[in-house]
Amino acid sequence: MKALTYQGKKKVKVKDVADPKLEKKDDIIVRITSTAICGSDLHIFNGEIPGMHDDYVIGHEPMGIVEEVGPEVTKVKKGDRVIIPFNVACGQCFFCQHEMESQCDNSNDAKDTGGYLGYSDTYGGFAGGQAELLRVPYGNFGPFVVPEDAEMEDERLLFLSDIVPTAWWGVESGGVKSGDTVIVLGCGPVGLLTQKFAWIKGASRVIAVDHIGYRLQHAKLTNNVEVYNFEEIKDIAAHLKEITSGGANVVIDCVGLDAKISALEKVETTLKLQGGSLSAFRMATDIVRKFGTIQLVGVYGLNYNMFPLGHLFERNITLKMGQAPVIHYMPLLYKMIKENKFDPTDIITHRLPISKAEHGYDVFSEKKEDCIKVVLRP
Ligand code: NAD
Ligand code: ZN
Repeated sequence: MKALTYQGKKKVKVKDVADPKLEKKDDIIVRITSTAICGSDLHIFNGEIPGMHDDYVIGHEPMGIVEEVGPEVTKVKKGDRVIIPFNVACGQCFFCQHEMESQCDNSNDAKDTGGYLGYSDTYGGFAGGQAELLRVPYGNFGPFVVPEDAEMEDERLLFLSDIVPTAWWGVESGGVKSGDTVIVLGCGPVGLLTQKFAWIKGASRVIAVDHIGYRLQHAKLTNNVEVYNFEEIKDIAAHLKEITSGGANVVIDCVGLDAKISALEKVETTLKLQGGSLSAFRMATDIVRKFGTIQLVGVYGLNYNMFPLGHLFERNITLKMGQAPVIHYMPLLYKMIKENKFDPTDIITHRLPISKAEHGYDVFSEKKEDCIKVVLRP
């Protein structure tokens, strides 16, 4: 089959690789119909995630048609249309049974964290879904079966695999409530969805920050948020604090490590300077109101030492973070999409065949061709 493979930092290649096979009795094999490139894939692409090796198949936002099921699979059958969550989760352990599927006890032998599809040997070593076929472990738990009468195109459903429930979790975990002022850092796909959900949760003011003009413009036009370009305002943190009279109730960081700004070699230096750095997290610590919450959705894929603990302690800040537990949110958000409560498709700018996936990585990572979100169709 054809698949997008990692070939070292900043190199990916579409190659012919062996078809995946059922390995365990509750595995399924899915023929992928649509699959997206995620900001999290850029952390891999930029060499920030340890445990990658040449020919590793990337991708964790897929959907498709069940091709084969193991003998113990009862939840899905051949021919079902399924959306595959990025969390690899057993469904049996304490964490899976308490809506914390991103920290499944049984999906990552390498470390005490959950496993994620297509996300390196550090997170379970599962081959990913930017491919024609995908092996999905725990077929009785993770896959969401699209009802036959759904009559919805892949594009409306695809992001239930990750960024729709991730953004929803971000506003829930961040505790966004009626009347709040919310600042969303980042206007990529995750930030743009987070802005929609902040409104749905009743925020009275939603402010978005980025430095890419076309993305800020998109945020303003489609999500009706106030937008600020941090490169155009001298002291962005002071400015945001002033216009919010002391900071936001909730700051949601939808950036994480940005290779262009807080590149690995720069992170330590900027942190050593203690403050004034453009790392999104540092900015968040300055623009959150006293007793407010910082929710990190963006991935910080390396040891983020020299943590500004005193700065957060003296202002009673709550800090929450992690990979989103997406599985238990899929039914609710499916229903909301069906009822047109929000439109997950307005972020899609590129639709490419899998053979053009390398181009997809180029435009998404370099923010070229006004790219926001790339969908691949194997
Ligand atoms: P993206 O790269 O398209 O978007 C990031 C945006 O942040 C870009 O537009 C960039 O210009 C902007 N940015 C960079 N530095 C900034 C700063 N200091 N302040 C404000 N904006 C800044 O990526 P995406 O697909 O939107 O993903 C965003 C993040 O969410 C990534 O780190 C990704 O790994 C993470 N993510 C996390 C989860 C989870 O479960 N926690 C799930 C999916 C994605
Ligand atoms: Zn993702």
